[in-house]
Amino acid sequence: MFCGKCGADIGDAKYCPKCGNSNDPDAPVKGVKTVNKIAYGLIAILIGGLGIHRFYAGKIFSGIIYILFCWTGIPSILGLVEGIIALTREDDGRGNIIVREDSYFV
Ligand SMILES: [Zn+2]
Repeated sequence: MFCGKCGADIGDAKYCPKCGNSNDPDAPVKGVKTVNKIAYGLIAILIGGLGIHRFYAGKIFSGIIYILFCWTGIPSILGLVEGIIALTREDDGRGNIIVREDSYFV
């Protein structure tokens, strides 16, 4: 599991040894969303041009931008890059990665 605040891998610890953040898995952390790494990566690579992975990650605004500009082909390139970044990220042991709302990429 990753710390919801600093992103450090904290295993099963409830409190992050790095920043002291409480990581109760039942308490949703604001600004952070957990997504399935493989699902996110594949969606981004295959149909990233439609911004589906952005919606999946809770980045609604940029998802709409992707749809509006899908005809330019640029969102497809961005989706490919985002998918590769996501797939190269280390997951939490359960196949999940965290996505930050304040970060453009995953
Ligand atoms: Zn932390």
